[in-house]
Amino acid sequence: MNILLLGSGGREHAIAWKIAQSPKTDKLYIAPGNAGTASIGTNVNMKADDFSAIKEFVLANDIHMVVVGPEDPLVKGVYDFFKKDSALATIPVIGPSKEGAQLEGSKDFAKSFMMRHHIPTARYKSISAENLQEGYTFLESLSAPYVLKADGLAAGKGVLIIDSLDEAKKELGDMLGGMFGDASKTVVIEEFLDGIECSVFVMTDGNGYKILPVAKDYKRIGEGNTGLNTGGMGAVSPVPFADEVFMAKVDERIIRPTIEGLKAEKIDYKGFIFLGLINVKNEPMVIEYNCRMGDPETEVVMLRIQSDLVELLEGIAEGNLAKRTLVHDPRAAVTVMLVSGGYPETYEKDKVISGLDKVSSENIIFHAGTKVSGEQILTNGGRVIAVSSYGKDKADALNRSFAGAKAINFEKKYFRSDIGFDL
Ligand code: ATP
Repeated sequence: MNILLLGSGGREHAIAWKIAQSPKTDKLYIAPGNAGTASIGTNVNMKADDFSAIKEFVLANDIHMVVVGPEDPLVKGVYDFFKKDSALATIPVIGPSKEGAQLEGSKDFAKSFMMRHHIPTARYKSISAENLQEGYTFLESLSAPYVLKADGLAAGKGVLIIDSLDEAKKELGDMLGGMFGDASKTVVIEEFLDGIECSVFVMTDGNGYKILPVAKDYKRIGEGNTGLNTGGMGAVSPVPFADEVFMAKVDERIIRPTIEGLKAEKIDYKGFIFLGLINVKNEPMVIEYNCRMGDPETEVVMLRIQSDLVELLEGIAEGNLAKRTLVHDPRAAVTVMLVSGGYPETYEKDKVISGLDKVSSENIIFHAGTKVSGEQILTNGGRVIAVSSYGKDKADALNRSFAGAKAINFEKKYFRSDIGFDL
């Protein structure tokens, strides 16, 4: 079958790598893709949220399935766009409907969904300019630190965790006053949960579901989880504390009620669900939902799926996912992200990347912010390359990824050398 994958990051390179291994794949197109995806499929110069260009391409190139990497096209309704167009309606889109994508697109929606379905999450209150006073009262009822979240998408920057009550009240006012534009017209105030986080990914066709290997990502720029938040500096899988007992709780208290809740509310959801979980004294609670795979977690999760990914995606499209096989690879997988110096603040692009031919065959290289320029590959973003590896255990896999991370070079390259340190 011919597949169009939307997106351009390390996540999409990892998904493309796995799709390309399937004997079911004929042609694989990635829009817009990056220098890495260009080596395993055909990049198409088209934005992932340009629906009319996507339509034209899909019809002209006999595409049988569209797989959506990032959240933006989903929140903007690419699934519904296909469903409503008679020329496209029979072509499956792997990803939820616009309404389903609200699990990520609106934190207020996600929290009230969890309340309705008794899914464990932090206590909260949604506040808008009209009930600011209630927001102050709720903050006063909590103890520090205080968690304020912009309701809408804010490029991963819309969550503030604040130590002082006075500052939290001030920031609440500023957020409602437009600190994150329309995204913070409503703010979710949450109780702070103390624990260790992990990412659980689920595939669903709306009825059945499969749980993918669990991963943990490292968001902060600095070693020891310090400094500013980034898109993610690395990831590991498996996660030792997400053992059988913990995962049985996740399945029973979180995943099943989520799938059943979507069904009961008649929300069309055929794609990936990302559960950002926190382990509070061995009890799983939901920090957030995302409506797509995570980045950089995908750069380890794809390594740990032994089964044919296209076969599973077909199961989603045909509504018989429960009958398909998902085998987890028993090996450990890790990824270490190489980033541009200065990221996540200002950084330069267009640096020549060298050493890609020197990495060992033990590394699987996923491009994120890269582009081809003549014979060279240049940096084209903050997060540049994910160096993934298998290993007999986490330490073994990390040794291989760190060796790869050292072999690849570009001016002002930076990576964290403590990925997985807390597990
Ligand atoms: P992402 O970039 O992961 O999509 P986001 O902007 O959607 O982030 P959240 O995932 O809800 O926001 O929060 C970002 C981070 O803030 C979480 O990964 C977690 O570390 C921390 N956090 C959020 N809510 C809480 C909470 N209630 N208690 C403790 N920490 C929290």
